[in-house]
This record gives sequence, structure tokens and C-alpha cells, in this order.
Amino acid sequence: MTDLPQPRTGFDLTAPRRHCPAMDRADEGMITAFEAARLTVRLSVLAENFRVAQRLAGPAEVASVVKADAYGIGVAPAAKSLLAAGCDSFFVARLEEGIALRDLAPEARIFVLDGAQPDMVPALIAHRLIPVLNSLSEIAAWSAAAAATRSQLDAAIHIDTGMNRLGLSPAELSDLAAEHVRHLSGLRVVLWVSHLACSDEPEAKLNGLQLERFKTALAMLPAAPASLSASGGIMLGKEYHFDLVRPGIALYGGNPQPGQRNPFGSVLSLTATIMQVRQAGKGESVGYGASYRLKRPSLLGTAALGYADGIFRSLSNSGSVAIGTARAPIVGRVSMDLLTVDLTDIPTAVHAGTEVELFGQTISLEEIATAGGTIAYEVLTSLSRRARRHYEDMP
Ligand SMILES: *Cc1c(COP(=O)(O)O)cnc(C)c1O
Repeated sequence: MTDLPQPRTGFDLTAPRRHCPAMDRADEGMITAFEAARLTVRLSVLAENFRVAQRLAGPAEVASVVKADAYGIGVAPAAKSLLAAGCDSFFVARLEEGIALRDLAPEARIFVLDGAQPDMVPALIAHRLIPVLNSLSEIAAWSAAAAATRSQLDAAIHIDTGMNRLGLSPAELSDLAAEHVRHLSGLRVVLWVSHLACSDEPEAKLNGLQLERFKTALAMLPAAPASLSASGGIMLGKEYHFDLVRPGIALYGGNPQPGQRNPFGSVLSLTATIMQVRQAGKGESVGYGASYRLKRPSLLGTAALGYADGIFRSLSNSGSVAIGTARAPIVGRVSMDLLTVDLTDIPTAVHAGTEVELFGQTISLEEIATAGGTIAYEVLTSLSRRARRHYEDMP
């Protein structure tokens, strides 16, 4: 036993925690001040990222993409701080997301990427949502709704330029261009939209090809504002900005072009509390399936966070957590509620109650995503509601 490193301060559950506003939050219905895992959302950084996008894309307007509960961070606080930062156009994917956002943003322009499927039309009109129409049949349905309600309806129209996902095909585009007066009867086109497939790769040839196809399409169509770029396109330069850009991931602190310097600040931190520090000898295994075997006498820490908190099981034996600026590798399998890290080389004292970071100020979304075999988008949208959420700087 003498060759085992000693826990530097033992198992002291009474040790004071560095940050614990939860202690003061009994009024919020929390039943215990002990906080296993915490998601901190820095809303002032979200607002600042909106302004960074404005500086990078100006004079183009910046619309915020808040689909999927604002990429998992919470659409209500996100919309509130984006509105306070001056954002007045938003994109959501689903009708239900648009209806929820309408309550939060009574005056904003809200675009619905799913478009106008026939049974969505009455709700779109009732909530003053603008569908991003993805086909001639959706255009026809929206035009018919304008006729039926004897009103003019705003529309965005999505032209496919190489994604082959949604949007008018080249044949539909020719048809629309040849007979736009008939097709667009009763409609006011407020935005021509297309979407880039490879904007996170500045060298990709498809970027330039999609840009040329979009320009060609616009030249065939009645004049209206245009939008090609999401977060990645903002970084591709002026030519890609047109009249409006629609960032999502960049606002939430993701790097629109991984590998390049990220001009957007870190909005989210996911942290967890170390529950136990323990010694284990060379040759011992760690966790379910005994998938990790210690190569030396080791100091292990078990943190109160697992895949039920939205962290990927694929981080087993792959990712790291940060303690200050040091990284402790995840050893063994990530389980539902817990993960174990190797503290042997961590220079600072770690004890029960020490906080570790899964991502945030030290570990970027891209770093944890890569370690887990995924992308920053999926890290955010997979976050569960179990980790306690703390919204800082609510406007
Ligand atoms: C999700 C989405 C966006 C936002 O993309 P980011 O890469 O997160 O900036 C913009 N436009 C469309 C059509 C989308 O589906």
C-alpha cells in the first residue's frame, strides 16, 4: 500500500464549495443545496456573441436561430437576452417552437424552417409566423391561404443550391421564375433563403458553387432580401452575407469553423461535483465492464455526472474533465449518474466537493464533441434537464 499516492485532503464532505449559490436558493423549491451537476448559462456572453455576429456580418441583419429550445440552452432566457441585445428576427424549425416563441417575442419576425405543411397553415397565420416555404406545393398552399383570408401573407422561400435536403429544386426554381406572378399571388416575399452544406470548411469547393447558384437564382426572381449564411457562412466573408445571416451555434459559443480561432465567447459551462476520491492499485479495473485497467497505482475521483445528464457514453476512456486548467482523463465507462477520472497527475488538491468541468472555460464544446465522436451541436441539444441550470445576467 505504501506506493499508493495519498488523497491530498481526504474525504471531506464538509469542505466548503467554491461556488454554491444553490445554498441560498431554498426559495426556488430545491430540496438540497448539494449540487451534483450544474449547467451555467452566461446570458451576457450570448448577447455579446450576437453583437460579435453583427460586427462580422454588418451591414447584413443578424437573425438568431433558436430552434430546439435554443440548442438546448433554454429558449425563454435565450430569447429574452437576444431581444434585449436588439435582435428582432428569429428562426425556429417546428411550428410548436414558433408558437412558444411568439409568446416570448410578441413583435419579432419569426421564421419557421419546416415551412407550411397543409395542416400547419391556420396556426401559422394565427401566430403571425412566417413559413420558409420549401416547395412549389407549399407556396401554392400559402398563396391559397392568402386568397382565402383575403390578406397578403409574408413568405420566405427556400431554394436548394446543393444541400439536397429541403428547398425548391432547379426545375421548381425555373417554374417559379417563369410564372412568379401566378405562383406568388397574395404573397409578399420577405426573404429568399438557401443553406450551405460545408460552411464549416472554408476550403470546400461546394461553398463557391452554392454561392454562384444562389446569385443565379436571385437574378431570375423578383427582388427581395436574401439569406445564405448560418454561423459558418459568416466566417466565409462579405460575399456570403447578403441581407441577413442566421447564426445558431456561434451565438451559443460553438466554433463555426473548428480548427480556426473562435471569435465567439463560451456561453455554457457544465460542471460536476466529485463525490469520492479513492486510491486503486496497479492492475485494478474501473467501472462497468472493467474496460479500463490501471497501469500504475492511481488516485481516482468519481464525479456526479453521467449519460443521463446528456454527456455521451462514448466519452468512456476517451474524454477528459478540467480541474482548473489541468485535464484529468475519464477512465472506465461513463455510467448513468457517474463518471470516474484519473487524478494521479493533477497538481491541485482534489477532494469530495471539488468541482470539475466537462466543458466551458477550459474545455471547448469542440474538444468534448471530438472526444465523444460527435459535434458541438449534438453536445448542446443532448443536454438533459437533470443538471441544475443557473442563468447568469438575465436581462
Ligand atoms: C440550423 C440552421 C441554421 C443555423 O445553423 P448554425 O450552423 O447553427 O449557425 C441556419 N439555417 C438553417 C436552414 C438551419 O437549418
